[in-house]
Formats: sequence, structure tokens, C-alpha cells
Amino acid sequence: MLILFGGVYIYDVIVIGTGAGGATVAKDLSLKSKKVLMLDRGCRQRNGTYVKHMKTKQIYLKNNLSDEDKQKYEFLTYPLDLTNIEEIGGTTTSSIGNACFSCSSCYSNSIMQQFEDKNLDIFEELLEASGELNVKYFPKKLWGHSTKLIADAGEELGYIVEPMPKFIDFEKCQFCGKCVNGCIFDAKWDSTYFVREALECGAVLIENFNVFEILHNDKKVIGVVGIDENNEKHIFKAKRVIVSAGSLNTPIILKNSGVENVGESIFFDIFTTIGGYLKDANLKNELMMGVKAEFGPYFLSPHYSMQLQPLMSKKGFVVDDKDIIGLMLKFADTCIGTIDEKGQIEKTLTKVDVDLIKEGYDKAVKILIKLGVDPQSIVATSLKGAHPGGTAAVGEVVDNNFESEINGLYVCDASVIPEAPGRPPILTIVAIAKKVAKIVNQSLKDDENEF
Ligand SMILES: Cc1cc2nc3c(=O)[nH]c(=O)nc-3n(C[C@H](O)[C@H](O)[C@H](O)COP(=O)(O)OP(=O)(O)OC[C@H]3O[C@@H](n4cnc5c(N)ncnc54)[C@H](O)[C@@H]3O)c2cc1C
Ligand code: SF4
Repeated sequence: MLILFGGVYIYDVIVIGTGAGGATVAKDLSLKSKKVLMLDRGCRQRNGTYVKHMKTKQIYLKNNLSDEDKQKYEFLTYPLDLTNIEEIGGTTTSSIGNACFSCSSCYSNSIMQQFEDKNLDIFEELLEASGELNVKYFPKKLWGHSTKLIADAGEELGYIVEPMPKFIDFEKCQFCGKCVNGCIFDAKWDSTYFVREALECGAVLIENFNVFEILHNDKKVIGVVGIDENNEKHIFKAKRVIVSAGSLNTPIILKNSGVENVGESIFFDIFTTIGGYLKDANLKNELMMGVKAEFGPYFLSPHYSMQLQPLMSKKGFVVDDKDIIGLMLKFADTCIGTIDEKGQIEKTLTKVDVDLIKEGYDKAVKILIKLGVDPQSIVATSLKGAHPGGTAAVGEVVDNNFESEINGLYVCDASVIPEAPGRPPILTIVAIAKKVAKIVNQSLKDDENEF
């Protein structure tokens, strides 16, 4: 059945997706009394259950590893796990609450710098976003046992170890280490808060609605088409559509809609967790990634992964998970990779990438040994990607107003970031969304003034 809402435009704006980008733009436009329809292919989930809803795609990375590297850094030969969440709140629901101001003090090719090179300024919006998410540095007096050990060992080795900025209310936080599951103590911000605010301001949300195409005529948006939970096809009309379906889905919708140059330079902000045996470390049960040490294109931060225990068992270290300590190495990968209209990804691990991993891995191992980890027990997980982006980049697919070649079709999620930041992107995506909300609000006003 096809339901077409005649020639009448019921909504000012349709927003696809309720992740960091979609929820923010929907909330800001609803606060300006715009009629907003939010469509999401997922539904609401209970906090404490999000790990169950995580989607993982395995990607075989093309590479040119030497035999020596394959032996010493065996983890580089495994396929990469790419994760995201397609529910109300998108992937924010599983975040560890890390905020990053995307400035160039940590990494010269930060998002702010990438945008500045294109004469795009989101500084004001970044400050607004930071205020709304109540970003605070993780205070030293609250650091857990393993976080302190890692910070001390890092500093003794001459590295600068600093607290991580977080969008976590430390008065409510129980430091349980289960952020990835969704916080049951209401301490961590995720974008479901903004979805609720948008609804309170009159926005409409349709869950379990899978958008597959943006409709347009003469290069002007007229609506979207998709299917509901009963597999019935619907068309919703609006002159402005904001695609915020995340970097893995936005390119598919844009390609289906005839937008060009989409999905040509995907990045993941690749990471691995390096860990080993330390009696009673108990990192698993403290707030993860509480501190960080910055090294330009990469950083190191305390992190526990469920993969560490089985990997250590394989090496003969059968240990309790409370006796494991680890460090995440995350870096800005080269954007050599593509995603096609079916979501198939091809991605290369370049020599630059491999050299960064080797450098970061060696530093992490030094820190672990310094704090007392048995060197023989040290293992590294397969590579992972949790920040995909770059699939509808500013300057390639959208202009400085985040608008595509189709008039009224905007993109507002991690897809618009041109190159890997190697840093947590949520705060920046919220800032981008605040900018998009201002741009779309102004364009609606301009329309009104025409009459
Ligand atoms: C375990 C984990 C921890 C992380 N921790 C942090 C952290 O601490 N700090 C940080 O900054 N970043 C973190 N990240 C990364 C961060 O969560 C993501 O980069 C960010 O949330 C992406 O936001 P987005 O708006 O681009 O899209 P997404 O979060 O991918 O949202 C897309 C939305 O669109 C919907 N959708 C998709 N396709 C369709 C369709 N066809 N029709 C309708 N709806 C659709 C989805 O259901 C979803 O709601 C983490 C990621 C993971 C996996
Ligand atoms: S560590 Fe804090 S923010 Fe994270 S889930 Fe536990 S209580 Fe919530």
C-alpha cells in the first residue's frame, strides 16, 4: 500500500535517524517551533541492554604486511570489526561518554582544522554543544585503581597523561564500567535525551521505519520513501530532508537518491586494545577511558575488552577477568576505502596506518610492563572501528551549508567529516547538527518571507 499525503506539506523538515546528528537537529528545530518528523529504522531500547543491539560487520582490510610484521603484530592479520547501533539514539547509546573539542592542540588534522581549511567555522556551536552535554574533565580524585596505575606509569615514561573530558554527570555515576550497555543510572548523556525534548516540543517520531530514498523533482527535495514495520511502503512529503542515518547508512540512502561522489573515502578511527595479566587490576569495573595520552594521529587510554581474556588463555594465561588491565590505541586511519549502494565496504590498511599502529602498540606495551604486567601475557585484540565517517564529506558531497547537490537535502552525521580525526566525534557531530539546524531554520524563514 502506498500512502501519499497529497500535495500538502505537513512537516517543515524530515529528519532520518536519531543518533547524535539527527536527534540534535530535530530537537533544535522543534525548539524553534518547526514541524519535524523523525524517522528511524530502530526502536527504543532499555538502558542496560545496548550491547545486545550492537551490529558488527567484519571487514577484510587490504594490506601489504611484511612477514615479520605478520608474526610480531599477528592481530593485524585478523578482519576488522566495525560496530554501530541502529536504534533510537543511534550509537550514542553505547558510547563511553568521551568528549573531544576537535581542536588542533592534540592533532594537527583535527576536525576543526579540516573545516577551517574549507572556510567552515563551527566554534560557536561546539561551545553550545559542550554546555548542553555538560562536558567535564574526569576529576583525578575519582580515578579508579587501574586508571591511576596507567597514568603513573605513563608519566614515569615521560608521556603527558591528562583526564578525559566526558559527558557524564559524575555526581550520578557509579563508576561501574558498563557505559557500552547504556547507563542505567541516568549519568551518561545519549541522544535519546534530545529525542525526548524534540517530542515534548511537538515533533513526531515513527520508529521501525526504514528510509531508502529521498524523492526530488528538478533537483529539489519533495519527500522521502521507505517501509514501515509491516513492510508497507509510505511516502512522507517535505521540502527539506536531513539525512542523519550514520556513515554506514547515509551513503546508501544518498546513492539510492542519485547523489554523486558518495562513499568514496571512508574512515573508521581504527583501534585495538592491548592488555595483559595484573593481579586485582579490576579495570573492567571502573569508568573506562578516564585518562588519555595524546601522540598526534593517535592516543592511548585505559580500556578493557572482552576479547583479551580468551586471547590470553590461548597463550597459556588462564586468568580471571578482574586480573586484566589494558590500553586502547586509537588512530586516525587513512581514508582509502569505499562503501557501495549495498553497504559493502572495501578498505585498505596503508603503510602509514601500519607504522602508526606499531608505534602506538610499542608504547602501550612499555606502559603495561612499567606498571607490572607480565610481558609474556600481553595480547592485542583484532582491529576495530567504532567511528565510521567520511562517506558524504564536506567539499565532496555536501557544501559548507551541509547541503547536497539536491536543493533541500542536507546531511548531518559523521559522514560529513572529511578525514579521520582519530578522536571521539560525538561532541563535534552535535555541534555540526546545531549548525545545520541554524542553516535550515534560516532557509525556512527565507521561504516564509518570499510569500
Ligand atoms: C562501543 C562504542 C563506543 C563509543 N564511544 C564513543 C565515545 O565515548 N565518544 C564519542 O564521541 N564517540 C563514541 N563512539 C562513536 C559514536 O558513538 C559514533 O561515531 C556516533 O554516535 C555516530 O553518530 P551519527 O549521528 O553519525 O550516527 P549513528 O549513531 O549511526 O545514528 C544513525 C541513526 O540512523 C538510523 N538509521 C540508519 N539507517 C536508517 C534508515 N535507512 N532509515 C531510518 N533510520 C536509519 C539508525 O537507527 C540510527 O538511529 C562509540 C562507538 C561505539 C560503537
Ligand atoms: S560508568 Fe558511570 S556513566 Fe558509565 S554506565 Fe556506569 S554509572 Fe553510567
